[in-house]
Amino acid sequence: MRGPLTIGEHVLLVDRKRRRHMIRLAADGEFHTHAGVLAHSLLIGQDEGITVRTTRGAALLATRPTLSEYILEMPRGAQVIYPKDLGPILMLADIFPGARILESGVGSGALTMTLLRAIGPTGHVTGYEIRDDFADRARRNVEAFLGPDLPLTIEVRDIYAGIELRDLDRVVLDLPEPWQVVAHAEQALRPGGIMISYLPTILQVSTLRQRLAESAFGMAETLEVLHRGWNVDGQSVRPDHRMVAHTGFLTVARLLTPNE
Ligand code: SAH
Repeated sequence: MRGPLTIGEHVLLVDRKRRRHMIRLAADGEFHTHAGVLAHSLLIGQDEGITVRTTRGAALLATRPTLSEYILEMPRGAQVIYPKDLGPILMLADIFPGARILESGVGSGALTMTLLRAIGPTGHVTGYEIRDDFADRARRNVEAFLGPDLPLTIEVRDIYAGIELRDLDRVVLDLPEPWQVVAHAEQALRPGGIMISYLPTILQVSTLRQRLAESAFGMAETLEVLHRGWNVDGQSVRPDHRMVAHTGFLTVARLLTPNE
């Protein structure tokens, strides 16, 4: 992630209209746009943040993508969780270095990457994904950004049928019926362990909250995150005209220990 740009790395190219393109550097690679061609060799060995020109003179700013930028540009199988929600998931579920996490479904791997970054090399993420094509896609996306030898196991299986792990610190869910996981998570989490669930509709949240209320989980909370960008351009300093009005709701709960 540091030093001059090298072959195999991703580079984000930003044009004058702030359009973004992500490329992966190859020795004789070329990036083609209606505004000309850019040889990858102009980037290899350079520091990030430089501006280069296509054969037709169009300026392109070249920088390494952040995790957020990579997630927005990477190939997707399933719909990803957006950075706006990924950051809060880390705080609400209190993801820490060394944590043992079960994640399901894995989808395109956006949340997986976020978790892997936060737990570091001493933690572990096990992902249960029901579709083998999504599991493959996710593994390729994750490794292309974070490299090989990650503390990650992806298993093609249905989490509604059970969780085989025990003594987990966290269960992180992005699937349609998380209430089907509550009883399994009670078995799989250690006392004080946290479960978090991302859900697009409030009726799903309601069903989940009801099931949580009947379970050994407590301290349940639900929230949504609104993110409003601002236009800051000379005298024009105001909120952006458009914002993403809705993505999903986050529900978090903690496994309590019943009194004897
Ligand atoms: N959080 C992911 C996106 C997950 S999309 C990301 O940020 O990239 C939801 C995923 O859950 C889909 O890939 C779907 O195949 C998977 N899924 C749905 N039901 C499942 C189940 N019962 N067990 C395991 N995975 C499931």
